[in-house]
Amino acid sequence: MRRASADAYDAGVSTDCLFCGIVAGTVPSTKVYEDDLTLAFRDIHPAAPVHVLVIPKAHYADLASLVAADPALASSLLAAAAEVARVEGIAEAGYRMVVNTGKDGGQTIFHAHIHVIGGGKVVGLPG
Ligand code: 5GP
Ligand code: ZN
Repeated sequence: MRRASADAYDAGVSTDCLFCGIVAGTVPSTKVYEDDLTLAFRDIHPAAPVHVLVIPKAHYADLASLVAADPALASSLLAAAAEVARVEGIAEAGYRMVVNTGKDGGQTIFHAHIHVIGGGKVVGLPG
């Protein structure tokens, strides 16, 4: 079923959503990791030398919605974020995972995502 609002539409692909566009390939991105369930690509406004966004391919408005609906997928997303840190070469030195949730949390894109940030000094947190 197709619904009008990306915010109200979970577990599918929303035509209104920028990150669903990246999953579909209609919006360009620099991908760094992909598996069946998740995709990771570079943030367009990096806050540090490594700044990657890790998303589920299915649309959920935020991480809380995702973990409530599909905890196994939320776990896969965390595992993908840790794998991104490894392939980006920052796992050993350390890095930050940031999840902004809702308007007051600084979330601007309402498709669940984890920021993986590191590789040097973090210049201001996203959101
Ligand atoms: P939020 O504030 O929702 O946690 O994070 C959204 C992130 O998406 C921001 O850090 C922003 O820079 C990034 N972003 C916004 N538009 C695009 C885009 O078109 N491509 C990519 N790669 N990142 C984007
Ligand atoms: Zn989406």
